[in-house]
Amino acid sequence: MGKKGKKGKKKKSTSAASGTPFSDALRVGEGYVLADLDTRRTPAFDGDKSDGVDALLAADGELDGLQERLYAEGTAGGSKRVLLVIQGMDTAGKGGIMRHVVGSVDPQGVDLTAFKAPTEEELAHPFLWRIRKALPGPGKIGVFDRSHYEDVLVVAVNDLVPPAQWKRRFSTINDFEQELIEDGTTLIKVVLQISKEEQGERLAERLDRPDKYWKYNPGDVTEREKWADYQVAYQEVLDKCSPASAPFYVVPADRKWYARLAVQQLLLEHLRAMDLTWPEADFDIEVEKERLANS
Ligand code: AMP
Ligand code: MG
Repeated sequence: MGKKGKKGKKKKSTSAASGTPFSDALRVGEGYVLADLDTRRTPAFDGDKSDGVDALLAADGELDGLQERLYAEGTAGGSKRVLLVIQGMDTAGKGGIMRHVVGSVDPQGVDLTAFKAPTEEELAHPFLWRIRKALPGPGKIGVFDRSHYEDVLVVAVNDLVPPAQWKRRFSTINDFEQELIEDGTTLIKVVLQISKEEQGERLAERLDRPDKYWKYNPGDVTEREKWADYQVAYQEVLDKCSPASAPFYVVPADRKWYARLAVQQLLLEHLRAMDLTWPEADFDIEVEKERLANS
Protein backbone atom coordinates (compact mmCIF):
# COMPACT_ATOMS: atom_id res chain seq x y z
CA MET A 1 0.00 0.00 0.00
CA GLY A 2 1.73 3.19 -1.14
CA LYS A 3 1.70 5.85 1.51
CA LYS A 4 3.91 8.88 1.66
CA GLY A 5 6.91 8.68 3.93
CA LYS A 6 7.14 11.04 6.90
CA LYS A 7 8.79 14.38 6.17
CA GLY A 8 12.52 14.43 6.71
CA LYS A 9 12.72 10.66 6.64
CA LYS A 10 13.62 8.40 3.81
CA LYS A 11 10.65 6.88 2.09
CA LYS A 12 9.79 3.49 3.44
CA SER A 13 6.97 1.13 2.64
CA THR A 14 4.39 1.40 5.42
CA SER A 15 4.33 -2.36 5.60
CA ALA A 16 8.03 -2.43 6.61
CA ALA A 17 7.39 -6.14 6.54
CA SER A 18 10.44 -8.28 7.12
CA GLY A 19 8.99 -10.90 4.79
CA THR A 20 8.04 -13.28 7.57
CA PRO A 21 4.32 -13.42 8.38
CA PHE A 22 3.55 -12.27 11.92
CA SER A 23 1.86 -15.59 12.59
CA ASP A 24 5.08 -17.47 11.82
CA ALA A 25 7.22 -15.09 13.86
CA LEU A 26 4.96 -15.23 16.93
CA ARG A 27 3.51 -18.76 16.96
CA VAL A 28 4.26 -20.88 20.03
CA GLY A 29 5.58 -24.31 19.14
CA GLU A 30 7.00 -27.15 21.17
CA GLY A 31 9.79 -26.19 23.55
CA TYR A 32 8.82 -22.50 23.64
CA VAL A 33 10.34 -20.67 26.60
CA LEU A 34 8.42 -17.56 27.61
CA ALA A 35 11.22 -16.31 29.87
CA ASP A 36 13.54 -16.07 26.84
CA LEU A 37 11.33 -13.52 25.08
CA ASP A 38 12.71 -10.02 24.66
CA THR A 39 9.53 -8.01 25.19
CA ARG A 40 10.95 -4.96 23.39
CA ARG A 41 11.54 -6.77 20.11
CA THR A 42 9.33 -6.28 17.06
CA PRO A 43 9.29 -9.64 15.21
CA ALA A 44 8.23 -9.58 11.53
CA PHE A 45 8.50 -5.78 11.44
CA ASP A 46 11.60 -3.77 10.59
CA GLY A 47 10.20 -0.28 11.02
CA ASP A 48 10.19 2.12 13.94
CA LYS A 49 7.27 3.54 15.89
CA SER A 50 6.11 6.00 13.25
CA ASP A 51 6.28 3.29 10.57
CA GLY A 52 4.30 1.01 12.84
CA VAL A 53 1.62 3.61 13.50
CA ASP A 54 1.37 4.26 9.75
CA ALA A 55 1.20 0.55 8.98
CA LEU A 56 -1.61 0.08 11.46
CA LEU A 57 -3.67 2.82 9.85
CA ALA A 58 -2.81 1.63 6.35
CA ALA A 59 -4.28 -1.82 7.02
CA ASP A 60 -7.55 -0.56 8.56
CA GLY A 61 -9.33 -0.63 5.22
CA GLU A 62 -8.42 -4.22 4.44
CA LEU A 63 -9.46 -5.36 7.90
CA ASP A 64 -12.77 -3.56 7.59
CA GLY A 65 -13.38 -5.11 4.15
CA LEU A 66 -12.62 -8.65 5.28
CA GLN A 67 -14.83 -8.25 8.32
CA GLU A 68 -17.67 -7.11 6.07
CA ARG A 69 -17.24 -10.21 3.89
CA LEU A 70 -17.27 -12.43 6.94
CA TYR A 71 -20.47 -10.77 8.11
CA ALA A 72 -22.02 -11.07 4.65
CA GLU A 73 -21.22 -14.80 4.53
CA GLY A 74 -22.86 -15.16 7.92
CA THR A 75 -26.08 -13.53 6.72
CA ALA A 76 -26.12 -16.01 3.81
CA GLY A 77 -25.95 -19.05 6.09
CA GLY A 78 -22.17 -19.43 6.37
CA SER A 79 -20.83 -20.83 9.63
CA LYS A 80 -17.44 -19.13 9.68
CA ARG A 81 -16.59 -16.87 12.58
CA VAL A 82 -13.50 -15.61 14.37
CA LEU A 83 -12.63 -15.71 18.05
CA LEU A 84 -9.73 -13.53 19.11
CA VAL A 85 -8.60 -14.33 22.67
CA ILE A 86 -6.41 -11.72 24.34
CA GLN A 87 -4.54 -12.58 27.52
CA GLY A 88 -1.88 -10.62 29.35
CA MET A 89 -0.85 -9.25 32.70
CA ASP A 90 -2.44 -6.03 33.98
CA THR A 91 -1.37 -3.03 31.87
CA ALA A 92 -0.22 -5.30 29.03
CA GLY A 93 -2.34 -3.27 26.62
CA LYS A 94 -5.50 -5.32 26.20
CA GLY A 95 -7.67 -2.21 26.21
CA GLY A 96 -5.53 -0.57 23.55
CA ILE A 97 -6.05 -3.59 21.29
CA MET A 98 -9.78 -3.18 21.72
CA ARG A 99 -9.67 0.53 20.83
CA HIS A 100 -7.01 0.62 18.14
CA VAL A 101 -7.41 -2.72 16.36
CA VAL A 102 -10.88 -4.05 16.97
CA GLY A 103 -12.26 -0.51 17.09
CA SER A 104 -11.54 0.02 13.41
CA VAL A 105 -14.18 -2.42 12.19
CA ASP A 106 -17.97 -2.13 12.11
CA PRO A 107 -19.11 -2.56 15.74
CA GLN A 108 -22.13 -4.53 14.51
CA GLY A 109 -19.80 -7.31 13.41
CA VAL A 110 -17.92 -7.56 16.69
CA ASP A 111 -18.92 -9.31 19.92
CA LEU A 112 -16.58 -8.04 22.61
CA THR A 113 -16.53 -9.57 26.08
CA ALA A 114 -14.28 -8.52 28.96
CA PHE A 115 -14.15 -11.29 31.55
CA LYS A 116 -13.92 -10.13 35.15
CA ALA A 117 -13.84 -12.14 38.36
CA PRO A 118 -16.81 -14.54 38.07
CA THR A 119 -20.12 -13.62 39.69
CA GLU A 120 -21.75 -15.93 42.20
CA GLU A 121 -24.01 -17.24 39.48
CA GLU A 122 -21.06 -17.92 37.19
CA LEU A 123 -19.18 -19.67 39.98
CA ALA A 124 -22.12 -22.01 40.45
CA HIS A 125 -21.57 -23.33 36.91
CA PRO A 126 -18.64 -25.08 35.21
CA PHE A 127 -15.96 -22.57 34.23
CA LEU A 128 -16.79 -22.73 30.51
CA TRP A 129 -20.44 -21.81 31.08
CA ARG A 130 -19.95 -18.06 30.85
CA ILE A 131 -17.44 -18.52 28.03
CA ARG A 132 -19.91 -20.50 25.89
CA LYS A 133 -22.53 -17.81 26.39
CA ALA A 134 -20.15 -15.23 24.94
CA LEU A 135 -19.07 -17.13 21.81
CA PRO A 136 -19.47 -15.30 18.51
CA GLY A 137 -22.26 -16.33 16.17
CA PRO A 138 -21.72 -17.01 12.46
CA GLY A 139 -20.23 -14.05 10.62
CA LYS A 140 -19.04 -12.37 13.80
CA ILE A 141 -15.64 -11.53 15.20
CA GLY A 142 -15.71 -12.43 18.87
CA VAL A 143 -13.09 -10.80 21.04
CA PHE A 144 -12.29 -11.96 24.56
CA ASP A 145 -10.50 -9.47 26.82
CA ARG A 146 -9.31 -12.22 29.22
CA SER A 147 -10.92 -15.60 28.79
CA HIS A 148 -11.22 -19.20 29.98
CA TYR A 149 -7.45 -19.05 30.44
CA GLU A 150 -7.97 -17.01 33.60
CA ASP A 151 -9.36 -20.24 35.04
CA VAL A 152 -5.85 -21.73 34.87
CA LEU A 153 -3.94 -18.46 35.48
CA VAL A 154 -5.35 -16.23 38.24
CA VAL A 155 -7.09 -19.31 39.61
CA ALA A 156 -3.87 -21.34 39.77
CA VAL A 157 -1.73 -18.53 41.15
CA ASN A 158 -4.24 -17.72 43.89
CA ASP A 159 -5.38 -21.28 44.67
CA LEU A 160 -8.97 -20.30 43.95
CA VAL A 161 -9.82 -23.96 43.35
CA PRO A 162 -7.85 -27.08 44.36
CA PRO A 163 -4.94 -27.92 42.03
CA ALA A 164 -6.45 -31.26 41.04
CA GLN A 165 -9.42 -29.31 39.70
CA TRP A 166 -7.64 -26.60 37.72
CA LYS A 167 -5.08 -29.05 36.34
CA ARG A 168 -7.91 -30.96 34.63
CA ARG A 169 -8.91 -27.77 32.85
CA PHE A 170 -6.05 -27.82 30.33
CA SER A 171 -7.48 -30.85 28.54
CA THR A 172 -11.03 -29.53 28.97
CA ILE A 173 -9.91 -26.33 27.28
CA ASN A 174 -8.18 -28.20 24.44
CA ASP A 175 -11.30 -30.27 23.78
CA PHE A 176 -13.49 -27.17 23.93
CA GLU A 177 -11.30 -25.30 21.46
CA GLN A 178 -11.30 -28.25 19.01
CA GLU A 179 -15.07 -28.21 19.18
CA LEU A 180 -15.09 -24.51 18.31
CA ILE A 181 -12.80 -25.07 15.35
CA GLU A 182 -15.01 -27.88 14.06
CA ASP A 183 -17.98 -25.51 14.26
CA GLY A 184 -16.27 -23.08 11.87
CA THR A 185 -14.43 -20.85 14.33
CA THR A 186 -11.06 -19.45 13.38
CA LEU A 187 -9.41 -19.20 16.77
CA ILE A 188 -6.61 -16.69 17.36
CA LYS A 189 -5.09 -16.86 20.83
CA VAL A 190 -2.77 -14.09 21.89
CA VAL A 191 -0.65 -13.41 24.96
CA LEU A 192 0.51 -9.79 25.22
CA GLN A 193 3.77 -10.21 27.07
CA ILE A 194 5.30 -7.25 28.91
CA SER A 195 8.31 -7.14 31.19
CA LYS A 196 7.93 -6.56 34.90
CA GLU A 197 9.87 -3.28 34.49
CA GLU A 198 7.45 -2.06 31.83
CA GLN A 199 4.49 -2.95 34.01
CA GLY A 200 6.08 -0.99 36.85
CA GLU A 201 6.32 2.09 34.64
CA ARG A 202 2.76 1.76 33.40
CA LEU A 203 1.39 1.38 36.93
CA ALA A 204 3.49 4.35 38.10
CA GLU A 205 1.94 6.44 35.34
CA ARG A 206 -1.52 5.46 36.54
CA LEU A 207 -0.57 6.81 39.97
CA ASP A 208 0.94 10.02 38.57
CA ARG A 209 -1.81 11.16 36.26
CA PRO A 210 -5.31 12.20 37.32
CA ASP A 211 -6.61 11.02 33.93
CA LYS A 212 -5.23 7.54 34.69
CA TYR A 213 -6.28 7.07 38.33
CA TRP A 214 -9.47 5.35 37.19
CA LYS A 215 -7.39 2.61 35.59
CA TYR A 216 -5.44 1.95 38.76
CA ASN A 217 -6.57 -0.88 40.96
CA PRO A 218 -4.69 -1.63 44.20
CA GLY A 219 -5.25 -5.31 43.38
CA ASP A 220 -2.93 -4.91 40.39
CA VAL A 221 0.05 -4.53 42.74
CA THR A 222 -1.09 -7.56 44.73
CA GLU A 223 -0.96 -9.60 41.52
CA ARG A 224 2.32 -7.94 40.49
CA GLU A 225 3.87 -9.27 43.67
CA LYS A 226 3.15 -12.75 42.28
CA TRP A 227 4.81 -11.96 38.94
CA ALA A 228 7.06 -15.03 38.98
CA ASP A 229 4.12 -17.34 39.76
CA TYR A 230 2.15 -15.83 36.89
CA GLN A 231 5.04 -16.45 34.52
CA VAL A 232 5.09 -20.11 35.58
CA ALA A 233 1.34 -20.30 35.06
CA TYR A 234 1.60 -18.71 31.61
CA GLN A 235 4.40 -21.09 30.66
CA GLU A 236 2.21 -24.02 31.66
CA VAL A 237 -0.62 -22.69 29.50
CA LEU A 238 1.74 -22.43 26.53
CA ASP A 239 3.12 -25.92 27.19
CA LYS A 240 -0.31 -27.54 27.42
CA CYS A 241 -2.64 -25.47 25.28
CA SER A 242 -0.77 -24.56 22.14
CA PRO A 243 -1.35 -27.51 19.79
CA ALA A 244 -0.64 -26.95 16.08
CA SER A 245 -4.40 -26.76 15.46
CA ALA A 246 -4.94 -24.01 18.07
CA PRO A 247 -1.58 -22.34 18.73
CA PHE A 248 -0.91 -19.36 20.94
CA TYR A 249 0.84 -16.30 19.58
CA VAL A 250 3.02 -14.45 22.07
CA VAL A 251 3.31 -10.77 21.18
CA PRO A 252 6.15 -8.78 22.76
CA ALA A 253 4.19 -5.87 24.17
CA ASP A 254 6.55 -3.37 25.79
CA ARG A 255 6.03 -1.24 22.68
CA LYS A 256 2.33 -0.57 22.47
CA TRP A 257 2.47 0.41 18.80
CA TYR A 258 4.04 -2.94 17.91
CA ALA A 259 1.59 -5.01 19.96
CA ARG A 260 -1.34 -3.31 18.22
CA LEU A 261 0.17 -3.80 14.79
CA ALA A 262 1.00 -7.45 15.52
CA VAL A 263 -2.51 -8.31 16.68
CA GLN A 264 -4.00 -6.49 13.70
CA GLN A 265 -1.74 -8.42 11.33
CA LEU A 266 -2.55 -11.73 13.05
CA LEU A 267 -6.23 -10.99 12.51
CA LEU A 268 -5.62 -10.02 8.90
CA GLU A 269 -3.53 -13.08 8.14
CA HIS A 270 -6.23 -15.35 9.55
CA LEU A 271 -9.08 -13.54 7.79
CA ARG A 272 -7.25 -13.69 4.45
CA ALA A 273 -6.78 -17.43 4.87
CA MET A 274 -10.52 -17.92 5.43
CA ASP A 275 -11.27 -17.48 1.70
CA LEU A 276 -14.23 -15.27 2.36
CA THR A 277 -16.48 -14.71 -0.62
CA TRP A 278 -19.39 -12.37 -1.22
CA PRO A 279 -22.67 -14.30 -1.14
CA GLU A 280 -24.40 -14.96 -4.47
CA ALA A 281 -27.57 -12.96 -5.03
CA ASP A 282 -30.58 -14.99 -3.93
CA PHE A 283 -32.79 -13.05 -6.36
CA ASP A 284 -32.83 -12.60 -10.14
CA ILE A 285 -30.56 -9.62 -10.76
CA GLU A 286 -31.96 -8.78 -14.20
CA VAL A 287 -35.52 -8.97 -12.95
CA GLU A 288 -34.69 -6.70 -10.02
CA LYS A 289 -32.95 -4.18 -12.28
CA GLU A 290 -36.02 -4.02 -14.45
CA ARG A 291 -38.34 -3.69 -11.48
CA LEU A 292 -36.17 -0.89 -10.14
CA ALA A 293 -36.11 0.90 -13.50
CA ASN A 294 -39.90 0.73 -13.66
CA SER A 295 -40.50 1.80 -10.10
P1 AMP B 1 -9.38 -6.11 34.34
O1 AMP B 1 -9.16 -6.97 33.12
O2 AMP B 1 -8.21 -5.27 34.68
O3 AMP B 1 -10.65 -5.34 34.25
O4 AMP B 1 -9.55 -7.09 35.57
C1 AMP B 1 -10.40 -8.16 35.58
C2 AMP B 1 -10.05 -9.02 36.78
O5 AMP B 1 -10.87 -10.17 36.77
C3 AMP B 1 -8.61 -9.48 36.80
O6 AMP B 1 -8.06 -9.24 38.05
C4 AMP B 1 -8.73 -10.97 36.53
O7 AMP B 1 -7.71 -11.70 37.12
C5 AMP B 1 -10.08 -11.27 37.11
N1 AMP B 1 -10.64 -12.49 36.53
C6 AMP B 1 -10.99 -12.70 35.24
N2 AMP B 1 -11.39 -13.97 35.07
C7 AMP B 1 -11.30 -14.57 36.26
C8 AMP B 1 -11.57 -15.88 36.75
N3 AMP B 1 -12.04 -16.83 35.93
N4 AMP B 1 -11.39 -16.14 38.06
C9 AMP B 1 -10.94 -15.18 38.88
N5 AMP B 1 -10.65 -13.93 38.51
C10 AMP B 1 -10.84 -13.62 37.22
MG1 MG C 1 -6.83 -4.16 35.40
